Amino acid sequence: MKIRSDFVTNSSSSSFVIGKKDDETVTLESVFQTIKGFYKEYLEKRDAVVQYITDNPKLGMVYQETEDGEYYCFKFLNGKRWDEKNSSTNKAIERDFGISTWDYFKKNYNWLECETYRDYENYWLNQMDNANDYKIHAPFTIADFFEEKEINWLHYKGGKEVHHVNSKSDILGWYFEYAEEAFANMESCEKCDYASWCDREECEQQKTFLKGKDVPEDKACLYLLGRICIHSECGYIPDYVVEKLSGVSEYSCNHMG
Ligand SMILES: [Zn+2]
Repeated sequence: MKIRSDFVTNSSSSSFVIGKKDDETVTLESVFQTIKGFYKEYLEKRDAVVQYITDNPKLGMVYQETEDGEYYCFKFLNGKRWDEKNSSTNKAIERDFGISTWDYFKKNYNWLECETYRDYENYWLNQMDNANDYKIHAPFTIADFFEEKEINWLHYKGGKEVHHVNSKSDILGWYFEYAEEAFANMESCEKCDYASWCDREECEQQKTFLKGKDVPEDKACLYLLGRICIHSECGYIPDYVVEKLSGVSEYSCNHMG
């Protein structure tokens, strides 16, 4: 039984690892600036489309609040999105501007004004602490894999959840199944605490692989994946930014749960 695999396919998360283990030019802050740059490009493209539909009223499109008042989106005044005329308008916009008119946009992107990742983290912890509901979430968390630590997971109200940057990292487990078990019981599966998760053959393969690589347990994320990791729940990061991040990542995955 492979509960771990089921867990992976049920979760809808994305992660992007940027920078190889010894690449000192890649830091938490440089990655934060990179992702901010991608978001700014994305919003510039959105603004260009807003300008375009305003200048061309014949397209029959508007940019307005969604019915629940939570987002902004592009809307066709006549007919459905998938009607022939609207759908060809959408395709032309996608081709000329590089974004889809299906996207939903947040009401504000104030976090883009945060100068550093620390500012960003404080901004979201503050937002979550002051919120009355659980809808508030940061678009992503960035983890520095350079050394073992616990980091704030910014996706839920309170931000009290932590992520362990070592062999117990959930993210490590997605890319290297059974890595946690393998480190915990390097000598034998007989001692695997995770009996229900341990698929003995694969667990043994992982141990053999890790022994050959000589990976320190506390730096497992750094050695096996790389330097800096952006993690997000699926759908929190717009497709445009996902594509850009994938292009600069050593490892990336976008689970569609
Ligand atoms: Zn095992």
